[in-house]
Amino acid sequence: KLVSREFRQENTIVSINGRVLGGNEVHLIAGPCSVESREQLLETAWAVKEAGATLLRGGAFKPRTSPYSFQGLEEAGLEILAEARERTGLPVVTEVVDPRFVSLVGSYADVLQIGARNMQNYFLLKEVAKVKKPVLLKRGPSATVEEWLMAAEYIMLGGNDQIILCERGIRTFETFTRNTLDLSAVPVVKRLSHLPVIVDPSHGTGKWWLVQPMAQAAIAAGADGLMVEVHPDPGEALSDGKQSLTPENFRNLVASVKEIAVAV
Ligand code: PEP
Ligand code: MN
Repeated sequence: KLVSREFRQENTIVSINGRVLGGNEVHLIAGPCSVESREQLLETAWAVKEAGATLLRGGAFKPRTSPYSFQGLEEAGLEILAEARERTGLPVVTEVVDPRFVSLVGSYADVLQIGARNMQNYFLLKEVAKVKKPVLLKRGPSATVEEWLMAAEYIMLGGNDQIILCERGIRTFETFTRNTLDLSAVPVVKRLSHLPVIVDPSHGTGKWWLVQPMAQAAIAAGADGLMVEVHPDPGEALSDGKQSLTPENFRNLVASVKEIAVAV
């Protein structure tokens, strides 16, 4: 298989506007779950940049469990993300939920995120394979490592090897945490594949106070980076407030991760 270590022995380097993932650097992707307003996103973008984030995240199209929950600002959200990139210089990672929107999202984003719920949306995977942009592929909540790598195989077979795998927790019998963060997947994927792998301890735990310890553990396990949700006022967030860090808590996370990583 194209994503396997047998096919390619050296690590694949994913380059995003001068940033390289999969080498020696650890990258921190941070920002709100959802883009809620221009003010909210710009404030968060500056805060995470000052704290040491190297990429900005924010959802404009939100796949929500309930159809009554906030669904995202859609194209208006993409415009706000692009403005934040112009102002802060941080490349933008945002989710694309539908094959029809791949070129639209690709015209604003630096990295196309495939959400956990869409990991096995093979038509969406084939579409993002055609775009000359890196793809961040989240692990499905019930996907085995093998299924996750096969989803990546669709993208690489379609002509795009700029793939970042993201462990974001899986569904188990445990309900205390939102998901069970499978950190063993990090060294497993590193052994089986040449693709970089990052960890999302926000969706992986669902609780803000678990994010920092699990971020440290992820880096200790060999992750190439982290994706962390940050909100200026988590109590008022339109999505995922309970797992979102304040800018101050994010600064503390960065400091604690730097103690473990060789280079951040
Ligand atoms: C997200 O990153 O905002 C998100 C929806 O994550 P996941 O697809 O992992 O649930
Ligand atoms: Mn979220």
